[in-house]
Amino acid sequence: MITLKNLSKIYRTEDIETTALNDINLVVNSGDFLAIMGPSGCGKSTLLSILGMLESHTSGEYLFLDEDLTGKSEHNLSEIRKSNIGFIFQSFNLIDDLTVFENVVLPLQYLGVPKEEREQRTEAILKRVGIDHRANHLPQFLSGGQQQRVAVARALVINPKVVLADEPTGNLDSKNGEDVMQLLRDLNSEGTTVIMVTHSEVDAQYGNRIVRLFDGKIIAEHSEKQVKEVD
Ligand code: ADP
Ligand code: ADP
Repeated sequence: MITLKNLSKIYRTEDIETTALNDINLVVNSGDFLAIMGPSGCGKSTLLSILGMLESHTSGEYLFLDEDLTGKSEHNLSEIRKSNIGFIFQSFNLIDDLTVFENVVLPLQYLGVPKEEREQRTEAILKRVGIDHRANHLPQFLSGGQQQRVAVARALVINPKVVLADEPTGNLDSKNGEDVMQLLRDLNSEGTTVIMVTHSEVDAQYGNRIVRLFDGKIIAEHSEKQVKEVD
C-alpha cells in the first residue's frame, strides 16, 4: 500500500538546515496498524505529514497504492488525499462554527457525493462512533472524548484506505483514550490501514507493528512481539 524508499526530508530556513528524516525505508501493507514512536523532535510529525501528502519529501521515493508521488502536482496530490486518507489529530481540529453533523459531512461535500447519500453516510458514521445524539450541537458543547469521536467520524466518513492519527489520545483521559483506541482497532480489523504517532506504549500495543525513530532514522521495528534492530 505504501512504500518509502531512501526517503529524506530536509527543512531549509535562511541559514539553517534540519534533517528531519534521514534515509527512511518503510513498507506499510494493507491492513497494518502501525505505531510510530520516538522522542520529541525525532521526525514523527514530519513523517506523518509526508505520508498524508501535506509535505513533500526532499529525496527518495514515496509510492502510494503503487503510484510514485514524486513530482506530482498539488492538485493531483489533493485528489489522491481526499478520497483515500482520513486524518485524526491530537487537538481534534473540528471547525468551531459548524455543527457535529456539518463537520462530518464536509469531506463528502469535497468529494461531490450527492446530498441524500452523504446525509445517510454521515448519520450512519455518527451512530457508529456513538455521537449521533449530538449531531446538531457545536463542538464547544461537547467533552474532549466526544469531540475526538466526531473527529474519528469525520476521518472515517469517506471510507479511507488509510487513517493517519497524530497522538489521537494525547488530550484525552484514559477512559476516553481507550474508547478512541478501540474504535481504531475495530476499524483496522475491518481492513483499514492505520498509521499512528504516539508517545503511549499502551496505545502502541493496539497495533501489529511499532516503528521507532531517533534523529530522523528508523532505529528499531517490532512486529507482533518480534524485535528487529535496524542499523
Ligand atoms: P516530532 O514530531 O518527532 O516531534 P518533527 O517532525 O516535528 O518531530 O520535527 C523533526 C525535526 O524537524 C525537528 O528538529 C524540528 O524542529 C524540525 N522541523 C519540523 N518542522 C519544521 C519546519 N516546518 N521547519 C523547520 N524545521 C522543522
Ligand atoms: P507535535 O509534537 O504536537 O506533533 P510539533 O511541536 O512537533 O507538534 O510541531 C507542530 C508544527 O510545527 C508542525 O507542523 C511542525 O512541522 C512545525 N514545526 C516544528 N518544529 C519547527 C521548526 N523548528 N520550525 C518551524 N516549524 C516547526
